[in-house]
Amino acid sequence: MLILAIESSCDETAVAIIHRDESGEPKILASEISSQIDIHRKWGGVVPELASRNHSLALSPLIQQALENAEVGIQDIDAFAATSGPGLASSLLVGNTAAKALSVATGKPYIAVNHMEGHLISPFLQDQGELPANIALIVSGGHTLLIHMKSFGDYELLGTTLDDAAGEAFDKVAKMIGLPYPGGPEIEKAAKSGNPAAFALPRSMMKEPNFNFSFSGLKTAVLYTISDLNPDDGAVKPEQVADLCASFQAAVIEVLVKKTIKAARKSGVNKISLSGGVSCNRTLQQELQKACDNARIELHLCQPALSTDNAAMIAFVALHKYLAGEFSSLDQGIDPNQKLV
Ligand code: ATP
Ligand code: FE
Ligand code: MG
Repeated sequence: MLILAIESSCDETAVAIIHRDESGEPKILASEISSQIDIHRKWGGVVPELASRNHSLALSPLIQQALENAEVGIQDIDAFAATSGPGLASSLLVGNTAAKALSVATGKPYIAVNHMEGHLISPFLQDQGELPANIALIVSGGHTLLIHMKSFGDYELLGTTLDDAAGEAFDKVAKMIGLPYPGGPEIEKAAKSGNPAAFALPRSMMKEPNFNFSFSGLKTAVLYTISDLNPDDGAVKPEQVADLCASFQAAVIEVLVKKTIKAARKSGVNKISLSGGVSCNRTLQQELQKACDNARIELHLCQPALSTDNAAMIAFVALHKYLAGEFSSLDQGIDPNQKLV
């Protein structure tokens, strides 16, 4: 069985083809990504109008390339999937309309996929069979979600951010420090030569009796630290960058790790999964691994290529939906604020 999936919720246009053989093993035959990061970088963030225009330009050649790399024809595909939300409306529409058009032209079903469900199950893409129950931490550009995943489609929301998402905090703090967009990888790079204890930054909501997060106070604390260090012009000096990055990164990671472990203990679940763009961060991976080892919890990480936006994760969700007989109607629209739970 073959499914072609399209991802166009933000600034990456992506197409993937997944295959499932008689043994039940899922295999990604193609996963193509055309990134727009270079186009948006000079604006310091994603410009919706530019994003949708570039999705339209990139999509058709990308579908051709995916079919060629997978060595299959369009008539071999059993279902067409696309991200239907959350994301930028005009960007979602491009991928969605294309998947529906392919569905109409070939007479094969259309499957709408929630982008966050893609991130959620992406750490299990190599695995055969049912998804294991686990506590999932999704840390991306727009979301910070702590979810008790009981099985495919059965999710309980344990906590979320009350303000900025983890990735958003990385991007905004990077901007304050004068690093380019997207800030996450830049902060990680600079933090390598910095002292994580150089500045005392707050660990928000650690004592609250829930699993919610807040990163805007931390962001403000970084801003004050920068102006205290540079009272004349407020501009960060090159020699301050590494320590600021390392201290900020350590504060975010400590809260994420402690709350996730606490959620697993409280739920009595012995597996944790980590996904979303911020999960590329090696220090986050290492700290969570250490904490999981101490608590005898099994950690499931995403392959780096599956952490940031891609269509393989969308194809993987579509495969599970196909097997469950969950198809979508062609008049189902996109939803920029689509909730997972
Ligand atoms: P969402 O999935 O919530 O709609 P998104 O799709 O934009 O948002 P992703 O593509 O999953 O988010 O992740 C992008 C985010 O990950 C950006 O905020 C980026 O800065 C962050 N990020 C990427 N690599 C790293 C890293 N090494 N360390 C920290 N953050 C990172
Ligand atoms: Fe994403
Ligand atoms: Mg992105």
